Amino acid sequence: MSVYNFAAGPAMLPTSVINQIKRDLPSFNDSGMSVMEISHRSDLFENIINGAKTNLRDLLNLTDDYEILFLQGGATTQFATIPLNIAKTKHIGLVDTGHWAIRAQEEAKKAGITVDTIASSKDNQYHNIPKISQPQQSLDYIHLTTNNTIEGTAYDQLPDLKHLVLDVSSNFLAQDYRLENVDLIYGGAQKNLGIAGLTIVIIRKDLIVDTDLPSMWNYKILAKKNSMLNTPPVFAIYAADLVLKWLKDLGGVPEIENRNRQKSSLVYDFLDNSKLFNNTVEKKSRSLTNLVFSTGDPKLDKKFIEKAQENNLVNLKGHRLVGGMRASLYNAMPYEGAEALVDFLEKFESENRRIR
Ligand SMILES: *Cc1c(COP(=O)(O)O)cnc(C)c1O
Repeated sequence: MSVYNFAAGPAMLPTSVINQIKRDLPSFNDSGMSVMEISHRSDLFENIINGAKTNLRDLLNLTDDYEILFLQGGATTQFATIPLNIAKTKHIGLVDTGHWAIRAQEEAKKAGITVDTIASSKDNQYHNIPKISQPQQSLDYIHLTTNNTIEGTAYDQLPDLKHLVLDVSSNFLAQDYRLENVDLIYGGAQKNLGIAGLTIVIIRKDLIVDTDLPSMWNYKILAKKNSMLNTPPVFAIYAADLVLKWLKDLGGVPEIENRNRQKSSLVYDFLDNSKLFNNTVEKKSRSLTNLVFSTGDPKLDKKFIEKAQENNLVNLKGHRLVGGMRASLYNAMPYEGAEALVDFLEKFESENRRIR
């Protein structure tokens, strides 16, 4: 059975990547073993991890000033390990754009960090990205969530601030941000870069300093061991490498951003003209990857989600915190998936407008 999967994460993979995994599965590179069975100390894996790093460097035009770490524990672990490693004065700034920003704040506080909220869109129910100006006090860094997976907002461009730390979990490699003021980028791989189990950290090398942190949290030690202090998530790194190659072959981040804009515009244009569905996000703060909408009637939303599922459009239920619907249009979602969604939205609207 074939479906369009609009899940927010874990999320769909490119079809060609699934097919490559299938082909590689019984015997990777004629080794007689699957990737799941190979040693992380083998040349086979050494090539995978170094290839993935090179592909990521190429896609982001990263200079040698940055180190790439492949870790575990999700973005959630990094909420605390980032400040423990790089917040020298234990005082950071954070922009409050919703659930994941608040989670980052809570975890940093548990690690003994003072967190100043330098801007917030809470008063507007997180329907926009707030204006941000350079804070007066000195802060170790400023934490931003580039795309708010639950609220459906995103930074169109990064603010012109020094020392940014970016949680890019839900729009990593989906839009072309200018990264020159960035200290660190991090995110879980399961939304836009492959499968669960892998967390990416990209960090300016001069921020990797000696600390007495336990080894598994210690960037200095992890970097020195090329992310292989202990057994890395071998299969997840392999899957990420396939996704990175796929993205490179289709033209890289600028090209996928074009495609993501086309897909999301198709759906937003429909919503803007709909008399049944609405989207409450401010236009210039709209996410390209997570589109939230509803009918305003929880019963009708539920019916929509069920009917969509019957029509092979799956995982459209919104996050429990905001209700309604959410369509995640990550890099792997083809244009045809967005078209199928709009066709179904139109059909549902024409069948259900009269009943209301
Ligand atoms: C999903 C998500 C997280 C949590 O990621 P885990 O890898 O599950 O820890 C953090 N931040 C954002 C923006 C997310 O979308």
